[in-house]
Amino acid sequence: AKDRGKNNYQFYTNQLHGLSSRKMELENGLRKALEQNQLILHYQPQVNLNTGEIIGVEALVRWMHPEKGIISPAEFIPLAEETGLIVPLGKWVLEKAAAQNKVWQEKGYSPIPISVNISVRQLQEDRFIDTVKQVLIDTQLPPKYLDFEITESVMQNSEKTAMILDQLKELGVTLAIDDFGTGYSSLSLLKHLPIDKIKIDKSFVDDIVHHANQGAMVKTIIDMGHNLQFNVIAEGIEDQEQVTFLLENGCLVGQGYHFSRPLSMEAMEELLSKNKKL
Ligand code: C2E
Ligand code: CA
Ligand code: CA
Ligand code: CA
Repeated sequence: AKDRGKNNYQFYTNQLHGLSSRKMELENGLRKALEQNQLILHYQPQVNLNTGEIIGVEALVRWMHPEKGIISPAEFIPLAEETGLIVPLGKWVLEKAAAQNKVWQEKGYSPIPISVNISVRQLQEDRFIDTVKQVLIDTQLPPKYLDFEITESVMQNSEKTAMILDQLKELGVTLAIDDFGTGYSSLSLLKHLPIDKIKIDKSFVDDIVHHANQGAMVKTIIDMGHNLQFNVIAEGIEDQEQVTFLLENGCLVGQGYHFSRPLSMEAMEELLSKNKKL
């Protein structure tokens, strides 16, 4: 029994060790990725559910790893948050997205806002407001064409967060609550924050048609959102039935594979240049 215990112990330490060295490898790789321009942005259209018109675009980061190919942000954003690398990484995303949107406007495409995901740690970093100001100056993008998606969990750290959000609003950018419904904030709490938009999480949209409860829940979120004067957008729309349900219940804007997957810069530009409806 003693031996077995020892083996188990070794097994666990090895496993732990393996995990942490894998993590360190990823962390070093990510640091290099930032320096060596291995990050790129993809763009997913946000559409008017009635007309299919593209009325916005979300910037989503990808890591073009020299050996492993494209790595999803779901794999490296959590680590970037843990290590603090999210601050330079997020700054890069913000600069890139704003600059790209300005380029599209200069090419004469109908101006649309670009949504950028901001992680909690990034938002609460001291220089964040200054970074945003600088990006607006450098790119000359009118602030109303820059939208920040912030997850609901941020809203819990109320005092400080409220102050930062107020400062952002003063700059003229718009603010959205991402993955709405997955956190624990009440809509009435959000009423006191300068939020423009809530984005209903994909997990709610998934089952709206086939599960009555889920449908009722989404309907309630849409109604309450509108009552509080928020714009409401749905993410993760994959079929026409979901579009129909959302429209019938007053949600007029959405995003998802049904309309388009996230696209390369070139593919997104192609859609914009043709003023394409999805
Ligand atoms: P998110 O902000 O909720 O973004 C939506 C994710 O769902 C994206 O995954 C998108 O590709 C995917 N998606 C969109 N429509 C559909 C659909 O119809 N069906 C399905 N199955 N998936 C859909 P992606 O690009 O892998 O990003 C994952 C997450 O990584 C994002 O979730 C966001 O939280 C985070 N992320 C991405 N880029 C950034 C960034 O620049 N900064 C920060 N802080 N986080 C980012
Ligand atoms: Ca998002
Ligand atoms: Ca989301
Ligand atoms: Ca989501």
